[in-house]
Amino acid sequence: MQSLWNDADAARFEGELGARVYTSRLLGSDASLVLHGGGNTSVKLTERNLFGGSSDVLYVKGSGTSLATIDASGFTPVELHALLRLADLETLTDSEMVRRLRLATLDPAAPMPSVEAILHAVLPFRFVDHTHPDALLSVMNTPSGRRRIEELYGDETVVIPYVMPGFLLARRCALELAAGLGPRTTGVVLMHHGLVPFGETARGAYERTIDLVGRAEAHLREHDAWAPARGSAVKPAEPVRHALAHLRRDVSAAAGRPMILTSAGEPGAWTFAGREDVEAIATRGPATPDHVIRTKLVPLVGRDVDAYVSAYTRYFEAHAARRDDLTMLDPAPRVVVDRELGVVTIGDSAADAAVVHDIFLHTLEAIERSELLERWAPLPESDLFEVEYWELEQAKLRRATARPPFAGEIVLVTGAASGIGKACATEFLDGGAAVVALDRSERVKELSADSAYLGIVGDITDASAVAGALEAAARGFGGLDVLVLNAGVFPTTSPIEALALEDWRRAMEVNVDANVGLLREAFPLLREAPRGGRVVVNASKNVPAPGPGAASYSASKAALTQLARVAALEWGAYGIRVNVVHPNAVFDTGLWSEEVIGERAKSYGLTVDEYRQNNVLGVEVTSADVARTIVAMCGPAFSRTTGAQVPVDGGNERVI
Ligand code: ZN
Repeated sequence: MQSLWNDADAARFEGELGARVYTSRLLGSDASLVLHGGGNTSVKLTERNLFGGSSDVLYVKGSGTSLATIDASGFTPVELHALLRLADLETLTDSEMVRRLRLATLDPAAPMPSVEAILHAVLPFRFVDHTHPDALLSVMNTPSGRRRIEELYGDETVVIPYVMPGFLLARRCALELAAGLGPRTTGVVLMHHGLVPFGETARGAYERTIDLVGRAEAHLREHDAWAPARGSAVKPAEPVRHALAHLRRDVSAAAGRPMILTSAGEPGAWTFAGREDVEAIATRGPATPDHVIRTKLVPLVGRDVDAYVSAYTRYFEAHAARRDDLTMLDPAPRVVVDRELGVVTIGDSAADAAVVHDIFLHTLEAIERSELLERWAPLPESDLFEVEYWELEQAKLRRATARPPFAGEIVLVTGAASGIGKACATEFLDGGAAVVALDRSERVKELSADSAYLGIVGDITDASAVAGALEAAARGFGGLDVLVLNAGVFPTTSPIEALALEDWRRAMEVNVDANVGLLREAFPLLREAPRGGRVVVNASKNVPAPGPGAASYSASKAALTQLARVAALEWGAYGIRVNVVHPNAVFDTGLWSEEVIGERAKSYGLTVDEYRQNNVLGVEVTSADVARTIVAMCGPAFSRTTGAQVPVDGGNERVI
């Protein structure tokens, strides 16, 4: 473990708070120290107040910020004196503590101070850095963990036995420190939790973390426990999409809502999933209590979700007996370890599943190192239950806000690099869905940087590209809920007597054949959709009102519409709804250029503006208008509708 301190970089940050920002980012940049908003830091400053006097202020990391990207506004100023008075209380519930922290905050617009603010306040040093280092957890979470820590650090740290984070931990620290603080003490070790070094300068405190964690790493190396054997196993070549989609259906049923599943491709994950003793090791408990909330107590080994739910319910009932005010959390697993599927992580969104993935892979490495050193021995279940059902977490549950309409759902859109397809992808992302976008154009990769977005370059007429997109939807997000068949071609217009057969065949190949293949391949996944699969076909006004010169286009879109109607009939029994939209004159798509619009307008004897609004309502129809209709057809308003054909054309006299 190397110090990343750099004088030139440090000089760019002004004052003590600036130095606080700089070393917080250094800590946050190392995933082996803190993950996803974990850890917190502080600095104590004396500042002039409004009344001309001076006040001691604790600047502590606010909740909801990440050390990796924090800036000065991420630190909440809190009146130090008020925190020290709180630390003197015999008891204080955590809910009351949170209220008091809010009241002691000196800037009402600042984020809520970390629940570990009192712990920062009672440590009599200016800079305090709290992290959850992997190496230290591997050493601590062993049967002789405490002895090992004491031998490693001697009187340089005060070791505090495990106490749940919150008021009691802060108070315990204050008491133990009053008794144990010596001239050489530069940090506190919180058993089964983490490390809290301190110092009078930002650099001093930071380099204490590096030094103490470095010694834990060296201890692991000396005992050949640093580098667990890693096989070269990689993602299986075999398709696993049907198994994943089925697992997702079971997990979503247990959670009571659609969930996102991500299958990890790291070699370490496959090696772990393939271990003979995987069940015994994986289910021994998380690395820190912090992680319980996100990863549940233990992963599901294998795919028996019902058995997991029963075990979770028993765990809840056994521990909840002492408290009558608890609501059971959803009993669905957050991690599945399976020989065939590897490590699958689960969340309400792709971002959530990614957080669980990172936490679990770090936990997995910590477990493997502890096993090599001695044996993985995390906290007893009762302590972990206290964290999972912490009053502050339960309060959060009661405040829970509504989920976006498509949260936890997965959408595949074809022809998504431009026009209506692109508008659909954006609209579904905004609605909380994970989106797999398929297009022949490279631009599809750059549509969104969201972790819920996957752009794939491929042609729908290529069966392997279609299979690849579905496999990617399953490995990336867990399956498929919604399929938007949007990709299509509009061949050059021509009267029938001059029709080139190859144009006709091309229209049929793309607009019909490719979509038959896609529907057939998508069916096994759509059948597993937790809320019922949905298909929306983008056809054309040309189906009910064909245009002269557009035989290939009109006939292919009519065949596609008929295909959708049959699918609606066949798939209703599986809860899959299939509907069709018929847009007309949507000019902001790849099919139309300004030049073509001008020519068409002229051929009707209209100006370009008249031509754009040439419909009953006299309005322009955009890609976004069509996308909103398609998205609505996949939502609750259309939950009783299948086999319908809805025009999105501003009204057409030939159709009405
Ligand atoms: Zn912590």
